[in-house]
Amino acid sequence: MIHNFNAGPSILPKEVFEQASKAILNFNNTGLSILEIGHRTSLFEAVLDEARSLVRELMQLNDDKEILFLHGGASTQFFQVPMNFLDEHETGAYLDCGIWGIKAIREAKLFGNVNVVASSKDRNYTYVPKDYVIPANAKYFHYTSNNTIEGTEMFYIPETNVPIVVDMSSDILSRQTDFNRFSLIYAGAQKNIGAAGVNLVIIDRNFKPVVNRKLPSMMDYMQHIANGSMLNTPPVFAVYVCMLTLRWLKSIGGIPAIEKINQQKADLVYSTLDAHPLFRPTVAKEDRSRMNVVFVMDDPEKEKQFLDLCKKENMVGVKGHRSVGGFRVSLYNALPLESAKAFCDLAKSFN
Ligand SMILES: *Cc1c(COP(=O)(O)O)cnc(C)c1O
Repeated sequence: MIHNFNAGPSILPKEVFEQASKAILNFNNTGLSILEIGHRTSLFEAVLDEARSLVRELMQLNDDKEILFLHGGASTQFFQVPMNFLDEHETGAYLDCGIWGIKAIREAKLFGNVNVVASSKDRNYTYVPKDYVIPANAKYFHYTSNNTIEGTEMFYIPETNVPIVVDMSSDILSRQTDFNRFSLIYAGAQKNIGAAGVNLVIIDRNFKPVVNRKLPSMMDYMQHIANGSMLNTPPVFAVYVCMLTLRWLKSIGGIPAIEKINQQKADLVYSTLDAHPLFRPTVAKEDRSRMNVVFVMDDPEKEKQFLDLCKKENMVGVKGHRSVGGFRVSLYNALPLESAKAFCDLAKSFN
């Protein structure tokens, strides 16, 4: 058995792979492949409708929320958000908690002013800043709920009247939160929702994009909403894989059920690492991500030995991001508890 700790694209449920591969050969007993049906057919419309309604149900979204499936990865949202919501002389408030947030900040500066309300750069992004003021005149406040690379996660939603925009790419659907508090949520699918190639974007209808600049149609959220994610050909197969993964999540009990398992996996892994004399988790305890566990060793020779051992034991994707070094073990929704246990057994045996 391979234990897949990849950070993204990452593990999906086995039954999703089985169902998706069947649909490539014969989709819903139509004799056609999912790859060759028209996106405006009732066949695909049913897929998109089911995906949307599963998102609404699992996240308990209210009727003000519009659910979109868009192209371009989360990186497109870094600029599509300011392009739609931030005029040249307006200010967007941003929290700087690592590489993905920095990229969002850089893109926002192309369109308007950016106020970085707090940063954890002073300690290499190993914690989440707590005390900061979100200026009341900001057009929106943007943060990254889980910092995939640095291994920090923000478990609370800041108190503010400013509309909140969140990049939830790597922890969406992994734990309960009040999703209705957000004016805009975006997430690339390849970590917790499905296959790479599609973004889930959820926009509150009361959060109005009012800017003076002209927008290309494909960049205009309003046009996507008006056309029900069918402004052009959607990434049909990627949306289908999302729908299957959402079905799976519902079948196992939804977000409350997966949160319990995710908590168990994270507790196991962190407590194993904390108890071990050689491993050193890098993140402040209260801000440790349940999705991406980042840790190092003080001896590069030992790091290499452990990496080789992981390889030998079929544990893939444990090498840390090049910017942090060390190790990163990702524990996304689809990672079975057994894989977390197997990793812990291996870590315990290492000396
Ligand atoms: C992976 C990731 C991204 C980038 O996603 P792409 O789909 O590659 O553009 C952005 N934000 C976060 C938090 C991520 O984990």
